[in-house]
Amino acid sequence: MILVTGGAGYIGSHVVKQLLDRGFEVVVLDNLLTGYRQAVDVRAVFWQGNIQDEPALDRLFETYQIEGVMHFAAHCLVGESVVQPLKYYENNVAATTVLLKAMMRHRIAKLIFSSTCATYGVPDIGILHEELPTRPVNPYGRSKLMIEQILRDLADAYELSFICLRYFNAAGANPSGVIGECHEPETHLIPNVLLHLLGKTTHISIFGEDYDTPDGTCIRDYIHVDDLSNAHILALQQLLYGEKSATVYNLGTGTGYSVKEIIKACEAITGKKANVAFADRRSGDPGRLVASYEKATRELEWKPEYSLEDMVRTAWEWHRRHPGGYPSEQ
Ligand code: UDP
Repeated sequence: MILVTGGAGYIGSHVVKQLLDRGFEVVVLDNLLTGYRQAVDVRAVFWQGNIQDEPALDRLFETYQIEGVMHFAAHCLVGESVVQPLKYYENNVAATTVLLKAMMRHRIAKLIFSSTCATYGVPDIGILHEELPTRPVNPYGRSKLMIEQILRDLADAYELSFICLRYFNAAGANPSGVIGECHEPETHLIPNVLLHLLGKTTHISIFGEDYDTPDGTCIRDYIHVDDLSNAHILALQQLLYGEKSATVYNLGTGTGYSVKEIIKACEAITGKKANVAFADRRSGDPGRLVASYEKATRELEWKPEYSLEDMVRTAWEWHRRHPGGYPSEQ
């Protein structure tokens, strides 16, 4: 049985579906603060609760034979982390140490950790690889890097085997149309553009037009959520069946798109024209983040399959079918 914390969230729910499709048994632990019960595949066992609830974790680890943990439960907004840093250190760092302590207590020695490209900070080279120094520029990135460092110490001290996956910008939705991206409020670029094109908002803001990039807007590496999910399964298999591991992989596509290019791609897929407004830079935003995923290809035999067009198309299908997100009765 695999424990997925945060399995009712956007990325977690997609990974849960792929785990189940590939024959794993799954228990989801999620407090539903930002996740949705309806996002959790009916084939998974669902526990509503917090990762810092020690008695609940003990009960869960005593009830199920957990072979490995995938830890998604976290706050993940760069901008919010700048204005509410304690929220990030409390939930992403302190609460995670409670989960880790419970894992050590119950001798659960395999962990996949959701990390982020925000650990790199503002790099001075174009394509980021895992050996670069990590100098995060916002509390979100720092909170994730702290856990990466804690995991290294735990792997030295105990049996723990772990893989940190540094995501670039997750986008798109499962082609089934049943699960997709749903945040309240939504802050991410692709869903914001699509929700605007659905008529939900009056305009889309571009945060900063004076970055050192060809069109002046921020460049990000967008990766389809099902490509991300596939990498999680490969990483889990490496942990379960391979040697002890204490490592990190970037997950991106190696291609960067500017904010303006993303808006154009959304207009092309939907056939609608966006009303664009220019706004100040969002604090904590680096100008350019693009991944090298060579290490994941070499060691996990992973590579991304979906294009930007696929991401926008599947996201558009999801938003069109669920213009209000998941239904609110939960
Ligand atoms: N962005 C924007 N308008 C929006 C939302 C995002 O211009 O309404 C920009 C944001 O400043 C960043 C990029 O789009 O440069 C991607 O932002 P997102 O929040 O999707 O992901 P992040 O890179 O912050 O994890």
